[in-house]
Amino acid sequence: MRCWLFWICLLLFVTGLVAVPGLDRANVRVADGFDHPVGKPNAEGYYMARGFLSYHPGEDWNGAKGGNSDLGAPVYSIGDGYVTFAMDARMGWGNVVLVRHAYVENGKTLFADSMYAHLNTILVRKGQQVSRGQQVGTIGTNHGMYRAHLHFEIRKNLYIGINRSAFAKDFSNYFRPGQFIAQHRRLPGAGQIASIPINSYKTDREGLPYPTAANSLKNRAQGDKSPSRGGTFRVNRFGDIGY
Ligand SMILES: [Zn+2]
Repeated sequence: MRCWLFWICLLLFVTGLVAVPGLDRANVRVADGFDHPVGKPNAEGYYMARGFLSYHPGEDWNGAKGGNSDLGAPVYSIGDGYVTFAMDARMGWGNVVLVRHAYVENGKTLFADSMYAHLNTILVRKGQQVSRGQQVGTIGTNHGMYRAHLHFEIRKNLYIGINRSAFAKDFSNYFRPGQFIAQHRRLPGAGQIASIPINSYKTDREGLPYPTAANSLKNRAQGDKSPSRGGTFRVNRFGDIGY
């Protein structure tokens, strides 16, 4: 008797436990593979000028003709996803687009953020769904700070946003972008919809949630090995310089 009530309560309880506390969610198309962000789909006409380094957890992509020859050239989303950040972050970053992707690997649904920085123009807005190969902006100079190039990162830690100095610049938080793309060109899951956590960044102008000790611990229990550094958000002008 009343057995169904017990099971409904249990289901609600378990659903509550699985959800990441304090984060909103959005539905997104599961990425069916990833392509390069320039010279789509294979980075044709571009070369990697700077790779993944201990102080530079991403890759810089330049046009083959060098200098500012790639200024204004298109930058593409590497896969289907959801725009979580699209604004001028200033500092060393300039115009930044961040896209959150859900993808299926070994039967598990995983998440990753792709970052496109120093853009000359931003062509998407926060909250927008994008497709693999959809243009999100153009290559820029971060307001004249650098010669034109794309600074590109792929993160496994969904809390980084533009607050890079608060997180270790290593493979606990990042993927090596070129390697990640090479290993994930075509994936299962086309046509599926996944629920992704959103609003996980703290920025200096939007006041979004930042991981508290409680939900950092929760994520670590779910396999997230990122350092649990919550607390006051501060911009480190040098640590957050984007190159
Ligand atoms: Zn860079």
